[in-house]
Amino acid sequence: MLKLESLRVSYGAIQAVRDVSLEIRTGEIVTIIGANGAGKSTLLKAVAGLEPAQDGRITFMDRDITQLPAHQRVGLGLALSPEGRGVFADQTVYDNLLLGGYARRKDRDAIAAGVERGYALFPRLRERRDQLAGTLSGGEQQMLAMARALMCGPRLLCLDEPSLGLAPLIVQDIFAAIRQLRDDGLTIVLVEQMANQALGVADRAYVLETGRVTLSGTGAQLLSDPKVRAAYLGSH
Ligand code: ATP
Repeated sequence: MLKLESLRVSYGAIQAVRDVSLEIRTGEIVTIIGANGAGKSTLLKAVAGLEPAQDGRITFMDRDITQLPAHQRVGLGLALSPEGRGVFADQTVYDNLLLGGYARRKDRDAIAAGVERGYALFPRLRERRDQLAGTLSGGEQQMLAMARALMCGPRLLCLDEPSLGLAPLIVQDIFAAIRQLRDDGLTIVLVEQMANQALGVADRAYVLETGRVTLSGTGAQLLSDPKVRAAYLGSH
């Protein structure tokens, strides 16, 4: 579904993503783990079209999207739930969802079905539909960011650190929702610092270190890899 070939992304002199090649197949959950500053968020931003590729190629559904603007990638079915959630604080939960569906706003049935899907996945959002997003708890804002990303009817959902700063019980809810979405047929790229949880849910995984892929394998393989255990799981 998604293929990165020798992707490079820089911020001035800083090379955040260096020569990354990887593949995401239809129906998979693939996780990308790595330390702070490894380039995980930059990688997702480049996939979403929010940072330009300096070099290399991004192919989505057999189409070269390397130069395609972000909003056109959304139209093709590529959605990002960003790190920090980025909810529209002064808008209600419902209006945040509508904004997520902007690319297909003329399709009223799809918008109504998308809102229902979000509420079904996270019933708490239905209860809080008229509440301003800025007054939601961190966990509720994460639910909203995910539900909003789903509103464009994506084929591929990129999730950037959905567990960041959340209490363990809420993290369980978020991971249950990720499993549910995969079971519904969505393909998911999951960037996470909670390596244990992420590898547990992932079909496959890549380790990113200072902008390069240094290891890859199934989630189970990386969970039992001594180097991964020592560096990311705090055990030996
Ligand atoms: P974290 O887990 O801490 O979010 P990350 O793996 O997502 O880290 P990135 O946020 O992609 O890492 O950052 C990769 C590198 O690029 C870091 O060295 C960071 O300082 C740098 N960087 C990120 N965004 C910018 C920016 N807008 N301008 C300049 N440098 C940046």
